[in-house]
Amino acid sequence: MTALATAETFATVDGQLCVGGVPLERLAARVGSTPFFAYDRDLVTARVQRLRAALTPRISLGYAVKANPMPAVVHHLAGLVDALDVASSGEMRVALDTPIGGDSVSFAGPGKTDAELSQAIAAGVTIELESAGEAARVVAAGGRLGIRPRVAVRVNPDFQVKGSGMRMGGGPQQFGIDAEQVPALLARLGGQDVDVLGFHVFAGSQNLNAEILMEAQGRTVDLVLQLAEHAPDPVRYLNLGGGFGVPYFAQDRPLDLEQVGAHLAGLVADRIDPVLPEAKVVIELGRYLVAESGVYVTRVVDRKESRGRTYLVVDGGMHHQLAASGNLGQVIRRNYPIVVGTRADAPADETVTVVGCLCTPLDLLGDGVTLPRADVGDLVVLFQAGAYGLTASPTAFLGHPAPVEVLV
Ligand SMILES: *Cc1c(COP(=O)(O)O)cnc(C)c1O
Repeated sequence: MTALATAETFATVDGQLCVGGVPLERLAARVGSTPFFAYDRDLVTARVQRLRAALTPRISLGYAVKANPMPAVVHHLAGLVDALDVASSGEMRVALDTPIGGDSVSFAGPGKTDAELSQAIAAGVTIELESAGEAARVVAAGGRLGIRPRVAVRVNPDFQVKGSGMRMGGGPQQFGIDAEQVPALLARLGGQDVDVLGFHVFAGSQNLNAEILMEAQGRTVDLVLQLAEHAPDPVRYLNLGGGFGVPYFAQDRPLDLEQVGAHLAGLVADRIDPVLPEAKVVIELGRYLVAESGVYVTRVVDRKESRGRTYLVVDGGMHHQLAASGNLGQVIRRNYPIVVGTRADAPADETVTVVGCLCTPLDLLGDGVTLPRADVGDLVVLFQAGAYGLTASPTAFLGHPAPVEVLV
């Protein structure tokens, strides 16, 4: 098995990795084809429970649907979290199909069309304003519909989160409205038929360093409390972002959730509650809720030797799980945790290169990985596949069939 702690969260029975308690070969038979994605319902639930234990009840938990928009996953999470964040009308439809109300859905992202804005207004969804132009279009769309839009101002902060996997705030950005422009925008919105609920700051993603996250959260609270003084309506919503990272590579250490939780509780009690006790304080997470609950399961189609190197060729690849091939924003390619799911108890005594079935050298899933000896027919499993897997991959590339997704 891999050194990553998360791999151990899936049980092993008689040498087979289990997802949702179902041994892998049996699950493959039930699915009917490989490759497939499988998400473990209990692991998702356990992750939310761990978060609830670490976070003060004053914090509402939001799920960023783009991490995994499979309807069954979103439906399951809708019963566990307090809010869903969507970034397209397609995701909004999935969110609104769950029992969660439109007033617990927020819609972020640049380039929302008038049609999308109208849909969100009609659904009572909170629109996270990404620009002054968008704010004007929201007011106009609300006027056409005769419905007062619910909005929050997404703020591009005047600080940057260093060490974050992906930065989405600070400096010039397509996301949010520059902090220094926000007071003037709020003054303009004050006279209009629009309900300004509060603020949203999302400073970055995939952060494993608690110190950096806590510093960003502190600065975010400073910023939103300053801006709240300019709000035209009572502030009822403070979305402090998220960015909790998950370990993808052997040397990654998991985030110290308890430390972050304790710090957040202090921020809420000492800073927010004395000024804005009614505000809903949201932490919005995508990958942290789902990444580690998912596996991508492929079958070995071929085993070959080439000039001293052993290749395992599997029936899946980067067209389904782009991130594991290193082609989704990684600067240096590193291996995602990988195992032979049908030989989970066997000693890892062979170094192989695992490649996908695409006719491109980019389709590399495990570069020089040490695994138990696997043959044609074995199932090779990639972990950390529950977020930004299928929907973040170029499925049409090379024309192979789409994989099945199951929630087990
Ligand atoms: C993508 C996104 C998230 C989720 O990011 P993760 O790294 O998956 O947690 C949260 N909020 C916003 C606004 C986003 O765009």
